Amino acid sequence: MKFIYYVLAAQFLFVTSVFSQKFDFFYFVQQWPGSYCDTKKSCCFPTTGKPDADFGIHGLWPNYNDGSYPSNCDPNTPFDQSEVSGLLRRMRTEWPTLACPSNDGLNFWSHEWEKHGTCSALDQHSYFQISLDLKNQANLLQALTSAGIRPNGQTYSLESIKDAIKQGVGYTPFVECNTDTSSNSQLYQIYLCVDNSASNLIECPVFPHGRCGSQIEFPAF
Ligand code: 5GP
Ligand code: 5GP
Repeated sequence: MKFIYYVLAAQFLFVTSVFSQKFDFFYFVQQWPGSYCDTKKSCCFPTTGKPDADFGIHGLWPNYNDGSYPSNCDPNTPFDQSEVSGLLRRMRTEWPTLACPSNDGLNFWSHEWEKHGTCSALDQHSYFQISLDLKNQANLLQALTSAGIRPNGQTYSLESIKDAIKQGVGYTPFVECNTDTSSNSQLYQIYLCVDNSASNLIECPVFPHGRCGSQIEFPAF
């Protein structure tokens, strides 16, 4: 009898220690290159050339419902380019780096993998493949342009941007702004949420902190 009790207790401890580490959902974050560049910090194009005038992936970030998040979960699994060799062409176009100095993107991808991907419970190939597929599924530029919201330097209301994405993609996004060189609020990043098995977009359980003005510039790129 005592033995069974110990076995059950050990199983309980094992199960809770494994599952308590599991995060609650992912943020899938895309950045508008025109806004990354149009700040005091400026930007550098990748060595492979100027990116398309489209949203680019920033990352797929495991998160907890209380707003906190795990990071750098496995120092023993560094980014390994050979695991994503079949995806590099798509990563160059859909996940371009804009940081200076110019580089081919490996720094950005390895940072995202090591900080966030190692906490995702996905292997490297799946982490990048799923992110690329999510970008296809959540076509932000198409959703915005269908609603007449174009990257032309004009100003749009935050509500109209959120409505257009809700309409086109099916889920309410979180919009993050930065400021241009004249201190105008502009559309920098769009956050959508994904369930913790990375299978489906979901409504966000919690939004990040931060606010945009009610009128936001959508700069050209
Ligand atoms: P910043 O402080 O510039 O908003 O964010 C810096 C970095 O912290 C982000 O690029 C991302 O790696 C991480 N980060 C910021 N906010 C969140 C969040 O709400 N969830 C997760 N998972 N990571 C975040
Ligand atoms: P996070 O903010 O995800 O922790 O980290 C972003 C890191 O990736 C920063 O160290 C930043 O310099 C680097 N990085 C490289 N390329 C890009 C880019 O195109 N956009 C952003 N936001 N960060 C980039």
